[in-house]
Amino acid sequence: MSAIPRASARLPAADAGRLPSVDRVLLQPEVAHLIERHGRRFVTDAVRGLLQSWREAALRGAPAPAADGPALAQALSARIAARLAPRLRPVFNLTGTVLHTNLGRAALAEPAILAVAQAMRGPVNLEFDLASGTRGDRDTLVEELLCELTGAEAATVVNNNAAAVLLTIAALGARREVLISRGELVEIGGAFRMPEVMASAGARMVEVGTTNRTHAADFSAAIGPKTALVMKVHASNYVVQGFTAAVPETELAELAHAAGLPFAVDLGSGSLVDLAPHGLPREPLPQEALRAGADVVTFSGDKLLGGPQAGIIVGRRDWIAKIRKHPLKRALRASKLVMAALEATLALYRHPEQLAARLPTLRLLTRPQREIHALAEDLAGAVTAAVAGAVPGAAFCVGVEAVSSQIGSGSLPIDMLPSAALVVRPARAGRGAGRQLAALAAALRALPVPVIGRVSEGALVLDLRTLEDAAGFRAQLALLGAGGSDKADA
Ligand SMILES: *Cc1c(COP(=O)(O)O)cnc(C)c1O
Repeated sequence: MSAIPRASARLPAADAGRLPSVDRVLLQPEVAHLIERHGRRFVTDAVRGLLQSWREAALRGAPAPAADGPALAQALSARIAARLAPRLRPVFNLTGTVLHTNLGRAALAEPAILAVAQAMRGPVNLEFDLASGTRGDRDTLVEELLCELTGAEAATVVNNNAAAVLLTIAALGARREVLISRGELVEIGGAFRMPEVMASAGARMVEVGTTNRTHAADFSAAIGPKTALVMKVHASNYVVQGFTAAVPETELAELAHAAGLPFAVDLGSGSLVDLAPHGLPREPLPQEALRAGADVVTFSGDKLLGGPQAGIIVGRRDWIAKIRKHPLKRALRASKLVMAALEATLALYRHPEQLAARLPTLRLLTRPQREIHALAEDLAGAVTAAVAGAVPGAAFCVGVEAVSSQIGSGSLPIDMLPSAALVVRPARAGRGAGRQLAALAAALRALPVPVIGRVSEGALVLDLRTLEDAAGFRAQLALLGAGGSDKADA
C-alpha cells in the first residue's frame, strides 16, 4: 500500500478542501504566463509537486498556506526557478586545496577557454589533414607541442590519466606479466587501485620487493619469459619514509631494455616545468623520466599541468604507435573540446617566463602569502558582518590567520604552501558550537554561488589563496542571512 492514500485518509477534511485541484490551478491567470514561459508539462509537474508538498505539510500539522492566486503563483515560480537552476554551478573554492578533484581541479587559462568556445561553436579540423584534404588523427593537434616540451618522440591523448595507465598496460602487457614494486601499489581514489587496473587491463601483476624496500636484484629475479612490461608508479598521494629503498629510473630502464622490455612510468601529476624556481616543492617532470630511459610516461592534463581533464601519454614512437592502435584508445579518446583546451594550455608553456602570470594553476600556487594576507585583512569586516546574522542564535568570531594550503590531486601530499585565511569560530565554545559551525558552513554552501570552506579543529577556515574574484565573494556575503539562500521549498 502506498503512503499517500493512507495519509490522505487522515487529512482533516477542512484542509483537504482548501487545496485546489491541479486543473483549477492551471486555469489561474497568474499561472498562464508561467505555462507560456516554461511549457504546460513542466508547469503541470511543478503544480503537482507543490500541492503534494502542501498536503504533506498539512499532515504534519503545519498551517495550510493561502492557496489563492498570487501566493500560489509565487510559490510555484520559486519551485520552478529551483528546478531550472543548473545542477553544475560555479562555486568559491576556499578549501585551501588548489587542485580540488571534487571541485573540478584546474581552472583553465583564458586562451584555453576561448579555444574551447570556438571548437564548440562549429566544425573544426579534429581528424582532418588540411594539407592533403584526407582523414587525419586528433593526436597530431598536440603531438608536436608535447614532443617539443618533453623531448618525446611521440604522444597520444586520452580521457584522463587513469585511462592513460589502463590503456598503456592493456596495450603493452595484456595476457602477460607486468612488474611493479610493492611500494607502488597505489590507490588514487575511487576504484582506481593498481592491482585492479592491472586486472582490468588483462595483465598479470607481479609484485616486486617489499613495501618499503625494493632493489634492482628483485626486479632482475622477477623478469621471466612471460614478462611484458616493467612499471614504475609515482607515489603521488603518500610517502614511504624511514628505512626505504627504490630502484632509480635509469637502472629500471637498463634492466628492462637488457631483457628487451619496455619501461613505463606513471607520474600521476607530472609537471612540465621545474617548480623549484617558483618557490614550490619539486615534482618529477616527464622529460626527466624520458631522459632516464622510460619508454612511456603518463600524466594528467588537469593536475599541475593546469589544463583540461586528459591523460597524456608520451614516449618512444614504436610503443606509442602500439598504444594508439589498441581498441581501447577509441573508447578512451579525448573530445574536440579537450583537444582545443589542451593545445592552448600547452602553447603557454612555450614561454615559461610568462607561465605564472598566464596559467591560473601556477598563478594560484605561487601567490605570495603577504598578498593573500592583505586580501584577508581587506575582507575581514565583510565576513564578520555577514556571519553575524547567518545562524539564528549563534555568534561568531572572525580572525585573519596564517594557514597552509595544499596543491591537491595527490601532488606533493606533505608539502604545504604558506597561506592566509579568515577563520570563523563560534563565540561560545562548548555544547552546540559544532552544530552552529556546521549550520554556518551549510548557509555558505546554500548561497547562489556556494562558498566552500573547510571545517578544521572547531573552526571554519576560508583559505583565500584561491580567491581571485573578491567583488563576487563580497556580493555573496551580502546575501548571507538576508534570505539570500535559495533553498528549494521541497
Ligand atoms: C592522479 C593520478 C592518476 C589518475 O589521474 P586522473 O587524471 O585523475 O585520471 C593516476 N596515477 C597517479 C600516480 C596519479 O597521481
